[in-house]
This record gives sequence, C-alpha cells and structure tokens, in this order.
Amino acid sequence: MNYTIPPSRPGGLRLHLNENTAGCSPAVLAALQAIQRTDASEYPDYSRVTAQCEAFFGVGPGFVQITNGLDEGLHVVAQSAKLNWPDFEAIVVEPAFEMYAACIAAVGGQQVTVPAPADLGFPLRAVLDAISPRTRLIYLCDPNNPSGVPIPSGQIQRVADAAPGAIVLVDEAYADFSGRSLIGPLLDRHRNIVVGRTFAKAHGLAALRVGALIAHPEALLPLRRILPPFSVNICAVAALQAALADRAYVDWYVDQARQSRDLIYAWCRDRGIAFWPSDGNFVLVRVGDDAKACVEALAAQGIYIRDKSNTPGCHGCIRITAGLVEDTTVCLAAMEAWDATRSR
Ligand SMILES: *Cc1c(COP(=O)(O)O)cnc(C)c1O
Repeated sequence: MNYTIPPSRPGGLRLHLNENTAGCSPAVLAALQAIQRTDASEYPDYSRVTAQCEAFFGVGPGFVQITNGLDEGLHVVAQSAKLNWPDFEAIVVEPAFEMYAACIAAVGGQQVTVPAPADLGFPLRAVLDAISPRTRLIYLCDPNNPSGVPIPSGQIQRVADAAPGAIVLVDEAYADFSGRSLIGPLLDRHRNIVVGRTFAKAHGLAALRVGALIAHPEALLPLRRILPPFSVNICAVAALQAALADRAYVDWYVDQARQSRDLIYAWCRDRGIAFWPSDGNFVLVRVGDDAKACVEALAAQGIYIRDKSNTPGCHGCIRITAGLVEDTTVCLAAMEAWDATRSR
C-alpha cells in the first residue's frame, strides 16, 4: 500500500498518546467532505454504522453499542455499577490506563488495586483473590497499556467465572495490532464480559471520538439505559463508515507499527536496554533513572514520548508510540543522541 504521508506536523512528532502517526485513511476525509446540510441538522441514525460494526467484529445483531470514544464506554460501566450497588468495589490491575481510576472516582466507587509482578505479567491469582462480594466491576486491558503485555489465553474467562456478579470490562483498544480478541461465541457464554474497542488508534479517528462496546445484548441493556441516545456525532459516524470500508489502510498501518516495534526492540537490544515485547502500537522501555531527562531531551527537539517513570511498576520507563517507520527512525536517532551524552 502506498499512502501519501502527511508532511511534518506543526505540533511536532507525537509519540506519547499511541495515536496513528499517519493520520486517518484518505477515504475518511472524503466522507467528511460529503456530509450534507441535512446530515448536520438531523439527529443521527446509527443503524447502518452499527450493522457495519457488527460485520467488522463478526457478531450478531444487538451485540454492538457505539460510544463517544471508548472512554465513554469505560465510564458507563462504572455508572452502571454505581447505580445498582452504591458501595461497589472495582478492581484495577496496575500499571493501568489512567481512565479506569478516573471512571471509578467519578462515580464515587471504591478502587481495589492489584499490582502486577515485576515482569508486568497478568497477576491472575491476585485478581481472583481480590474479588469480594462487593466487586461489581473489573477493568482488564489486553494487551495492557502501558506495558503491551498480553493476558494469557483463558485467564479472562477465569476472572469472569469467579465474579459472576461483576461486569468484566475487557479493554481491547489495541486488538487491531495484537490480532487477538475475545469477541466471538464466548460472549454468549460469559454474559458478564463487555469488550471495549476504539477506532482512535489503528483507524486513526482519535479526534472524532468513536469507540464501541461489544457484549451479549443482555449485558448491554443496562448500559444502553444510561448512555445518552445521541452521544456519537454525525462526523464520527461518517468517518467510521469510511474507515471500516478501507480495511487495506488499517492493514498497512498495523504492519508499519509492527516494523516500528521491531526497530525499537533492536535499538534496545543493541544497547542492553530492557523493554517489554508489545502487542500494541507502543513499547515500554526501561531507559533508567534518567527517564525524565530522556523525555525532556526529545521534547526539546519536538519529539514527544511518554514519561512513565512515576507509574506503578514502571520506574525508569518511557513509552514510545510505534507508528510510521519513518517517525520511529526519527525518534530512535534522537534517542541515540541522548543515550550517547548520558553517563551510565
Ligand atoms: C486510547 C485508549 C482508550 C481510549 O480510546 P478512545 O476511543 O480515544 O476514548 C481506551 N483504553 C486504552 C487502553 C487506550 O489506550
């Protein structure tokens, strides 16, 4: 695939939020330009885009609820838990995507934190031990952000079986990159599992705000009662329809991310720097005690990576988005220059 790559962005090279560094598919812009005056003036109809999502995820009618970004989906499960069980507990495995804590706090829930072991592998035993009669929500992330580490196959089902009274929100924001998903017949058997997906990352629609919850219709029903009826706007609908129709673009981008990860791994190996092999479009790298200095040195050149050194379990770590190969090359050259100047 040969797509025109946008010229260097005035905002610098953003490798700190796991965005698509190439932008969205050109077909998305064409769809936005084709929006009519009445498209803007009428409340949006989600039937076509929802059917397209059902086909994309390979599920039957009623299994998909589109949301205003996956963030809205992360919020609605917390709202639902609060509505039904005011003194509920929610389990979060750390290091975690920061939104889980924010969603629990927003509704006044009690967070129960389970730390991952030093290798950041999934702590199944500890999660099972943390489940109590008050557990009504469990946020799992596969692959994990910020580590990129997968949850071993079968373990999510074990958590779901052990907490039948809780919603198990499986955040699959990076499933397009991992090529793995829980979505399938399993959702029929495990009706407390709700899978979260986003079109912000691989599909490059972060600014348009569109994600989805995928679950058995019985599991989605209480969430649908809480969600505003028109929370996804028409630009996001039009963009998503076009993005889903251009599968080749996502395939091309996923391959760019794979090559970029390999470049980052090779750079780390050559220098004896620890990293976590990642299933996402990012790599967590343990550069050492001067992680903050590293982030600042690159920022001074307009290259933005994420300082993760204050995140539990991630001391000395930075997180680099693995997007377009040419962007990764620029970043690694800057990393190289910084690495050469520091004392180790
Ligand atoms: C980016 C991200 C999201 C948010 O997705 P939006 O659709 O932009 O709200 C959710 N979960 C994880 C783990 C993410 O990294």
